[in-house]
Amino acid sequence: MKRIKHLIFWLVVIGLILLLFSSHVIAEDDFRQQRHALVGIIKTQVMATRDYLKQESLDERVFDALRKVPRHEFVPESQRPYAYGNWPLSIGYGQTISQPYIVAVMTDLLKLKKTDRVLEVGTGSGYQAAILAELADSVYTIEIVEELGRQAAENLKRTGYGAVHTRIGDGYYGWEKEAPFDGIVVTAVASHIPPPLLKQLKPGGRMVLPVGAQFMTQYLVLVTKDVDGKITTRQILPVSFVPLTGKH
Ligand code: SAM
Repeated sequence: MKRIKHLIFWLVVIGLILLLFSSHVIAEDDFRQQRHALVGIIKTQVMATRDYLKQESLDERVFDALRKVPRHEFVPESQRPYAYGNWPLSIGYGQTISQPYIVAVMTDLLKLKKTDRVLEVGTGSGYQAAILAELADSVYTIEIVEELGRQAAENLKRTGYGAVHTRIGDGYYGWEKEAPFDGIVVTAVASHIPPPLLKQLKPGGRMVLPVGAQFMTQYLVLVTKDVDGKITTRQILPVSFVPLTGKH
């Protein structure tokens, strides 16, 4: 009798473990399908905004990264059901994880190569940094809100992007010690292009950032530095970003 009770106990335990495991697998598969559907929506939006972008699609490697990185792992628990909508979501501290379409466009504009070194200003959740890590050799990211920076580092580690270099600080000044960078992306809006970032961009490098003011017209701007150090800027499309804060 004791043996049978023992056997039933272990069967129940194993059954529960299998149930938990299979529901996890089903949920992950559902998220994967949602990511694929999201890429379809972004492709349509890219086509709809082709006059701004001056292109009808993005690099397929950018879409592959979006299909791979688990955005639901970078948002608070309460936002997980909405993680694969094509919109920004709150990540706390008055900050947001950017709209996936914007993440895709900004990443594409950098034209990253597998050997590139990239700087991101505004780590937020860490999601964009993970996308960059799929396309470049090394990623450096700076966040000014300490708590967010710490959470982002945990998110990146948990999802397999622990090689991304994170730092708490004012990204306006860039990351001098690790400069120069082939690509720089700024995910908060400033009234002007921060001169320290321009300096830390490699000749031949590209920087993408929103320029303008909060609640006013903002434009996503592509900055290129040619091999002789000459700077060219191009307005890409109107956007809406949280402000680049700090004492600069
Ligand atoms: N890239 C983020 C992601 O994938 O979740 C979204 C970034 S959110 C739109 C902008 C972030 O920039 C916020 O987390 C904000 O705290 C940060 N930020 C604002 N000013 C900053 C500064 N001077 N230096 C570094 N980070 C800054």
